[in-house]
Amino acid sequence: MAEIDAILFDLDDTLYPVSTGFSDHRNGEVVCKFMVDYLGFDSMQSAKALRDEYFQRYHSTMKGLNVAMEEGRLPKPFQQEDLGQFWADHCDFARFIHPDPEQFQVIHSLAQVGLKLAVFTNSPRKYALSCLDKLGLRTLFPDDRIFAVEDVLPACKPQPEAFKQVLESIGSCPEKTVIFEDSMKNIRACKALGIRTVLVDEFQGGATGAAAGEAALLHDIPEHADPAVDVVIKDLLEVPTVLPGMWQKRFEAVRPRYMAPEIIRGEGYSGFAADMWALGVVLFALLSGTLPFSAKTEMQLYARIRRGSFTFPDCLGDSQKRLLRGVMRKDATARPSASALLQHAWVAGRDDAGHLSSVAAATALMTDSGKASNRLQAPQPAEAPVRAHGYPKSVTNQTAHLDDLTQKICGISNKGATAFGGS
Ligand SMILES: [Mg+2]
Repeated sequence: MAEIDAILFDLDDTLYPVSTGFSDHRNGEVVCKFMVDYLGFDSMQSAKALRDEYFQRYHSTMKGLNVAMEEGRLPKPFQQEDLGQFWADHCDFARFIHPDPEQFQVIHSLAQVGLKLAVFTNSPRKYALSCLDKLGLRTLFPDDRIFAVEDVLPACKPQPEAFKQVLESIGSCPEKTVIFEDSMKNIRACKALGIRTVLVDEFQGGATGAAAGEAALLHDIPEHADPAVDVVIKDLLEVPTVLPGMWQKRFEAVRPRYMAPEIIRGEGYSGFAADMWALGVVLFALLSGTLPFSAKTEMQLYARIRRGSFTFPDCLGDSQKRLLRGVMRKDATARPSASALLQHAWVAGRDDAGHLSSVAAATALMTDSGKASNRLQAPQPAEAPVRAHGYPKSVTNQTAHLDDLTQKICGISNKGATAFGGS
């Protein structure tokens, strides 16, 4: 967990979806027309070839054209202020992008808790302002919190000097800053500085995403498993679910593999019921060495958890399976309370044949043997069916029972049960 005080938002392909095709429109027909009209190129094709060559080197059209001019590659001189104005005037914003009131609300609510919000783009300033206007987001960012490429030249993203200039301007430091970005190169540069990183990947690593947007042009394909990536989201609407701590100025990602279906569905939820589900996931992993839900992408993972269907490995006994089926019910109200679960035969210390269960055995091994033995020798209740018990009115009792249950289950892990991966 880390305290944060600032958020940087990339603009293109982050504050609007790649699937709009807007980046391809701007980087294709619009910029090529600019180069024909203003820089003297004789065809759209020759303009595109040079633009792509320099964009791949510098990740910014403006910086690329500046360098191309210095290297004698442009038929006519490049006035950098012309590019932003041309994009602002000639991009067909209305055809591709539109305000998203839900996204506005997410960003607005982050500003309301006192976080410093800034936009940082490698695009020219006039274009950036116009684009934010068209997205309906301009009012969320004061002019001195909108950083375009002119504000950091001769550096630009992903050079560390560029990020340092922006952080200095907004009065924050890398350790207290979070960036939302679609570019892996920028994500890696930020991580190296100590900035918390959120990769925005609309396609969740899918093939369609590899063919669109600026990242694709730079061969900068999203890599969810890259150690520079702290968190992956599909779009900013997922922030309240995946990073709820942001509203308490904390960077603390929810681990999706442990999230209950009702949380993924974006519904209101009971913390106790959601904890019970998560406890089931942990227990499943401790007993089997695998997680009940896994997938190549988070989108697939969410779909599997929403369906709530999982397969038991052969190593689990019938009593364990009954326990897990009850704890991991899709219907949150049908999950047992912690006190009810403590009465389950397997948790209480007996397996199907009335023998000492592995939880009880582990507990006995890890704790004072006398205490454990005394507990296990006490008369055991019959196995309580795992079914809907509702949640007790006494929150204190429920919490105490949950703690007791967690300690028992963690006892297995402490004694060297199979390790399992995080999210
Ligand atoms: Mg971008």
